[in-house]
Amino acid sequence: MTTRAYIALGSNQGDRQAYLASALDALRSLPGVTHVETSPTYETDPVGGPAGQGRFLNAVAAVTTDLSAEQLLQALHQIEANHGRDRSAEPQRSAPRTLDLDILLFGDVVIGYSGGPEHPGGSALPGGLTVPHPRMHQREFVLRPLCDIAPDLVHPVLKRTISELLAGLS
Ligand code: ATP
Ligand code: CA
Ligand code: CA
Repeated sequence: MTTRAYIALGSNQGDRQAYLASALDALRSLPGVTHVETSPTYETDPVGGPAGQGRFLNAVAAVTTDLSAEQLLQALHQIEANHGRDRSAEPQRSAPRTLDLDILLFGDVVIGYSGGPEHPGGSALPGGLTVPHPRMHQREFVLRPLCDIAPDLVHPVLKRTISELLAGLS
Protein backbone atom coordinates (compact mmCIF):
# COMPACT_ATOMS: atom_id res chain seq x y z
CA MET A 1 0.00 0.00 0.00
CA THR A 2 1.34 3.44 -0.84
CA THR A 3 0.61 6.75 0.82
CA ARG A 4 1.04 10.33 -0.34
CA ALA A 5 2.88 12.15 2.43
CA TYR A 6 3.82 15.81 2.80
CA ILE A 7 7.10 16.86 4.40
CA ALA A 8 8.14 20.34 5.55
CA LEU A 9 11.78 21.34 5.03
CA GLY A 10 13.50 24.18 6.84
CA SER A 11 17.03 25.48 7.29
CA ASN A 12 18.43 28.56 9.01
CA GLN A 13 22.11 27.71 9.45
CA GLY A 14 24.98 27.40 7.01
CA ASP A 15 24.35 27.17 3.27
CA ARG A 16 20.57 26.93 3.59
CA GLN A 17 19.87 26.52 -0.13
CA ALA A 18 22.44 23.73 -0.41
CA TYR A 19 21.00 21.92 2.64
CA LEU A 20 17.49 22.01 1.19
CA ALA A 21 18.64 20.89 -2.26
CA SER A 22 20.69 18.06 -0.79
CA ALA A 23 17.86 16.98 1.51
CA LEU A 24 15.53 16.79 -1.51
CA ASP A 25 18.11 14.64 -3.33
CA ALA A 26 18.27 12.39 -0.27
CA LEU A 27 14.46 12.11 -0.24
CA ARG A 28 14.43 11.21 -3.92
CA SER A 29 16.91 8.39 -3.34
CA LEU A 30 15.26 6.98 -0.20
CA PRO A 31 14.23 3.35 -0.61
CA GLY A 32 10.44 3.14 -0.53
CA VAL A 33 9.95 6.75 -1.70
CA THR A 34 8.92 7.78 -5.22
CA HIS A 35 7.28 10.67 -7.09
CA VAL A 36 8.85 13.50 -5.11
CA GLU A 37 7.29 16.85 -5.94
CA THR A 38 8.60 20.09 -4.45
CA SER A 39 7.18 23.53 -3.77
CA PRO A 40 8.96 26.80 -4.35
CA THR A 41 11.28 27.89 -1.55
CA TYR A 42 10.38 30.83 0.70
CA GLU A 43 12.53 32.91 3.01
CA THR A 44 10.74 33.44 6.33
CA ASP A 45 11.26 34.98 9.73
CA PRO A 46 11.87 32.51 12.56
CA VAL A 47 8.82 31.75 14.70
CA GLY A 48 9.60 30.96 18.34
CA GLY A 49 13.02 29.85 19.48
CA PRO A 50 15.87 32.07 20.69
CA ALA A 51 15.99 35.77 19.75
CA GLY A 52 18.42 36.79 17.05
CA GLN A 53 18.50 33.55 15.05
CA GLY A 54 18.71 33.78 11.27
CA ARG A 55 15.89 33.65 8.74
CA PHE A 56 14.74 30.33 7.39
CA LEU A 57 14.40 28.90 3.95
CA ASN A 58 11.26 26.76 3.89
CA ALA A 59 9.75 24.42 1.34
CA VAL A 60 7.39 21.43 1.23
CA ALA A 61 7.79 18.13 -0.58
CA ALA A 62 5.12 15.60 -1.50
CA VAL A 63 6.23 11.98 -1.74
CA THR A 64 4.64 8.64 -2.49
CA THR A 65 5.84 6.01 -0.07
CA ASP A 66 5.28 2.44 1.04
CA LEU A 67 7.03 3.15 4.34
CA SER A 68 5.01 3.53 7.54
CA ALA A 69 4.84 7.01 9.09
CA GLU A 70 7.24 5.85 11.82
CA GLN A 71 9.71 4.49 9.27
CA LEU A 72 9.50 7.70 7.28
CA LEU A 73 10.17 9.81 10.40
CA GLN A 74 13.18 7.64 11.23
CA ALA A 75 14.52 8.14 7.68
CA LEU A 76 13.98 11.92 7.97
CA HIS A 77 15.91 11.99 11.26
CA GLN A 78 18.76 10.14 9.52
CA ILE A 79 18.78 12.68 6.67
CA GLU A 80 18.85 15.52 9.23
CA ALA A 81 21.81 13.93 10.99
CA ASN A 82 23.61 13.46 7.66
CA HIS A 83 23.21 17.18 7.07
CA GLY A 84 24.96 18.39 10.16
CA ARG A 85 22.01 18.46 12.54
CA ASP A 86 23.04 17.63 16.07
CA ARG A 87 19.93 17.34 18.25
CA SER A 88 22.01 16.87 21.38
CA ALA A 89 23.41 20.40 20.89
CA GLU A 90 19.95 21.96 20.64
CA PRO A 91 18.80 23.65 23.83
CA GLN A 92 15.12 23.66 22.90
CA ARG A 93 12.54 23.06 20.22
CA SER A 94 12.74 25.66 17.43
CA ALA A 95 16.50 26.16 18.00
CA PRO A 96 18.53 27.16 14.91
CA ARG A 97 19.32 24.17 12.69
CA THR A 98 20.96 23.18 9.44
CA LEU A 99 17.97 21.06 8.50
CA ASP A 100 14.51 20.34 9.92
CA LEU A 101 12.27 17.76 8.28
CA ASP A 102 8.73 17.35 9.65
CA ILE A 103 5.96 15.05 8.51
CA LEU A 104 2.95 17.31 7.95
CA LEU A 105 0.44 14.85 6.60
CA PHE A 106 0.59 11.13 5.93
CA GLY A 107 -2.38 10.37 3.71
CA ASP A 108 -5.48 10.56 5.90
CA VAL A 109 -3.67 8.90 8.79
CA VAL A 110 -4.18 10.40 12.26
CA ILE A 111 -1.63 9.38 14.93
CA GLY A 112 -1.29 10.77 18.45
CA TYR A 113 -3.42 13.79 17.64
CA SER A 114 -5.22 14.04 20.93
CA GLY A 115 -6.83 17.43 20.33
CA GLY A 116 -9.40 16.59 17.69
CA PRO A 117 -11.22 19.29 15.71
CA GLU A 118 -12.42 21.08 18.85
CA HIS A 119 -8.94 21.37 20.32
CA PRO A 120 -6.52 21.45 17.42
CA GLY A 121 -2.90 21.50 18.42
CA GLY A 122 -3.17 18.72 20.93
CA SER A 123 -0.29 16.31 20.64
CA ALA A 124 0.87 12.99 21.93
CA LEU A 125 3.52 11.90 24.37
CA PRO A 126 6.89 13.73 24.23
CA GLY A 127 9.02 12.41 21.38
CA GLY A 128 6.13 10.40 19.95
CA LEU A 129 4.98 10.84 16.39
CA THR A 130 2.02 13.15 15.84
CA VAL A 131 0.33 13.25 12.43
CA PRO A 132 -0.99 15.57 11.13
CA HIS A 133 1.74 17.82 12.49
CA PRO A 134 -0.06 19.54 15.41
CA ARG A 135 1.13 23.06 14.55
CA MET A 136 1.01 23.00 10.74
CA HIS A 137 -2.32 24.83 10.46
CA GLN A 138 -0.97 27.78 12.49
CA ARG A 139 2.14 28.31 10.35
CA GLU A 140 2.22 30.44 7.24
CA PHE A 141 5.74 29.16 6.48
CA VAL A 142 4.23 25.67 6.15
CA LEU A 143 0.83 26.43 4.61
CA ARG A 144 2.08 28.75 1.86
CA PRO A 145 4.44 26.26 0.17
CA LEU A 146 2.00 23.39 0.86
CA CYS A 147 -0.76 25.41 -0.80
CA ASP A 148 1.44 25.80 -3.90
CA ILE A 149 1.44 22.04 -4.47
CA ALA A 150 -1.77 20.83 -2.76
CA PRO A 151 -4.33 23.64 -2.32
CA ASP A 152 -7.33 21.31 -2.32
CA LEU A 153 -5.91 18.71 0.03
CA VAL A 154 -8.19 18.29 3.07
CA HIS A 155 -6.71 18.24 6.59
CA PRO A 156 -8.04 14.93 7.97
CA VAL A 157 -8.78 16.31 11.46
CA LEU A 158 -9.75 19.92 10.80
CA LYS A 159 -11.66 19.03 7.59
CA ARG A 160 -10.48 22.19 5.86
CA THR A 161 -8.50 22.47 2.65
CA ILE A 162 -4.97 23.82 2.76
CA SER A 163 -6.06 26.95 0.91
CA GLU A 164 -8.85 27.50 3.48
CA LEU A 165 -6.38 27.07 6.35
CA LEU A 166 -3.97 29.53 4.72
CA ALA A 167 -6.75 32.08 4.11
CA GLY A 168 -7.82 31.70 7.75
CA LEU A 169 -4.47 32.83 9.18
CA SER A 170 -4.68 36.33 10.58
P1 ATP B 1 7.93 21.74 15.71
O1 ATP B 1 7.49 20.30 15.86
O2 ATP B 1 7.10 22.70 16.48
O3 ATP B 1 8.09 22.14 14.26
P2 ATP B 1 10.76 21.26 15.90
O4 ATP B 1 10.65 20.79 14.49
O5 ATP B 1 11.75 22.30 16.24
O6 ATP B 1 9.34 21.82 16.41
P3 ATP B 1 12.16 18.97 16.78
O7 ATP B 1 13.11 19.26 17.89
O8 ATP B 1 12.70 18.85 15.39
O9 ATP B 1 10.97 20.01 16.86
O10 ATP B 1 11.39 17.60 17.06
C1 ATP B 1 10.86 17.31 18.32
C2 ATP B 1 10.25 15.91 18.31
O11 ATP B 1 9.06 15.87 17.53
C3 ATP B 1 11.12 14.82 17.74
O12 ATP B 1 11.48 13.96 18.78
C4 ATP B 1 10.22 14.10 16.74
O13 ATP B 1 10.34 12.69 16.85
C5 ATP B 1 8.86 14.53 17.17
N1 ATP B 1 7.76 14.50 16.18
C6 ATP B 1 6.47 14.17 16.50
N2 ATP B 1 5.69 14.27 15.44
C7 ATP B 1 6.46 14.65 14.40
C8 ATP B 1 6.18 14.92 13.02
N3 ATP B 1 4.94 14.80 12.50
N4 ATP B 1 7.23 15.30 12.23
C9 ATP B 1 8.48 15.43 12.76
N5 ATP B 1 8.80 15.18 14.05
C10 ATP B 1 7.79 14.81 14.87
CA1 CA C 1 9.67 21.90 12.72
CA1 CA D 1 11.32 18.78 13.51
